Amino acid sequence: MSSRLRQWDDNFVWHPFAPMQAFREEQPPLIIAADGFHLVDEQGRRYLDGISSLWCNVHGHRVPEIDAAIREQLDHVAHTTLLGLASGPSAELAAELVRITPPGLNKVFYSDSGATAVEIAVKMAYQYHAQTAEKEPRRNLFVCMGNAYHGDTIGSVSVGGMELFHGVYCDLLFETIQVPSPVAFRRPVDIFAEDHIQSCIDTMETLLREHHDRIAAFIIEPLVQGAAGILVHPPGYLRRVRELTHELGILLIADEVAVGFGRTGTMFACEQEEVSPDLMCLAKGLTGGYLPLAATLATDEIFNAFLGRPEEGRTFYHGHTFTGNPLGCAAALASLKLFEENAVLVNTVELANTIATELKPLAHHTHVGEIRQKGIMIGIELVRDRRTNEPFDSKLRMGHQVALAARKRDVIIRPLGDVVVLMPAPAMPSSDVEHLCRVVIESIDEVITNFSAT
Ligand SMILES: *Cc1c(COP(=O)(O)O)cnc(C)c1O
Repeated sequence: MSSRLRQWDDNFVWHPFAPMQAFREEQPPLIIAADGFHLVDEQGRRYLDGISSLWCNVHGHRVPEIDAAIREQLDHVAHTTLLGLASGPSAELAAELVRITPPGLNKVFYSDSGATAVEIAVKMAYQYHAQTAEKEPRRNLFVCMGNAYHGDTIGSVSVGGMELFHGVYCDLLFETIQVPSPVAFRRPVDIFAEDHIQSCIDTMETLLREHHDRIAAFIIEPLVQGAAGILVHPPGYLRRVRELTHELGILLIADEVAVGFGRTGTMFACEQEEVSPDLMCLAKGLTGGYLPLAATLATDEIFNAFLGRPEEGRTFYHGHTFTGNPLGCAAALASLKLFEENAVLVNTVELANTIATELKPLAHHTHVGEIRQKGIMIGIELVRDRRTNEPFDSKLRMGHQVALAARKRDVIIRPLGDVVVLMPAPAMPSSDVEHLCRVVIESIDEVITNFSAT
């Protein structure tokens, strides 16, 4: 007997990123509540949230301090526009974001999702060059990484590089230059890993030098390409990109939507290579994962290119109805306060160590090709053949099978293809993270045993 809610979901809700025909048959849990790091479904069954509610939750659910901040803001106003008016929480949060982000990022443009934060950065970069260029040719090309993911609106898809998500729309996208991800997992045979990575770096440099006077910006997920399957870049890569973009007059857009707010062990990934980008995109964890709020930060140099008398036409004509929503800003301020009060970054580093230890038994597993980890972002890639890294037939949906096996054990995870992803919240207690790792190992074992039996 399925409930009314279940029937309405079945009848009326089109779920994101879901093959709906298969999705319906699987009857995913219908969540009606949560507390701490657990989700509760309509039958009262509790699940450990192993993916931070899709990479955004930071301090857990129903955190008293964030709940109180939102309630308090509700007593003033839920929403008022930033088009033509200013507001308290958005002003206070902007000051705070400028304080904690890398030096030079002094202006904050709000929106409401990671994809819009990226759209804004792309449009700003393009218009910046149009309004500062002394001579032709126009800089209208963007450089992005192979397998990049920056969100699902058309501009963000244009700077994306994931065939599976983006291929269908190729006719609608603007032109980009893709540089290879500096990772060695599936490299050509007969090449050492280090040589392959060096050749990726060399290719990047060659492409930048060749096209630099047409390139507006280089957009990158700093340190880790999340949706590509938790691809971890080698140390120094981001720095090298910053040096080259600086030298060649190319803007650097750091998309910290996934890696920001503690996921890589520091507040922002750019810090680890002492990189200050020209534009930085924040979303997911900005409100502690509570409300849809995003920000694009820019340098004064970029901001100043948009100044002038209104009739000069240098205005950035962009905005969303809910830009700078006060409830979201109040949640973000409360979340940032908790980062300090609860020493969340210290916890993140401890969790990273715990996870590395707990996952050791998988290192020699016959069907684990690679365990990739940066901070508390983890990808375990399942392969058919460990020696060649030959993948499983995608029809088998091995990653998905592992998620279903984990769900039976009351743990929610969500894979990227055959990469089993663990994305615990930065404030999760060690004991929960240990449990998460153990359940994932058991679930992989169960799925592999079933596979081997057939
Ligand atoms: C999730 C993600 C986005 C898109 O954010 P949305 O809020 O889902 O639009 C953009 N960039 C990166 C790196 C992401 O992981």
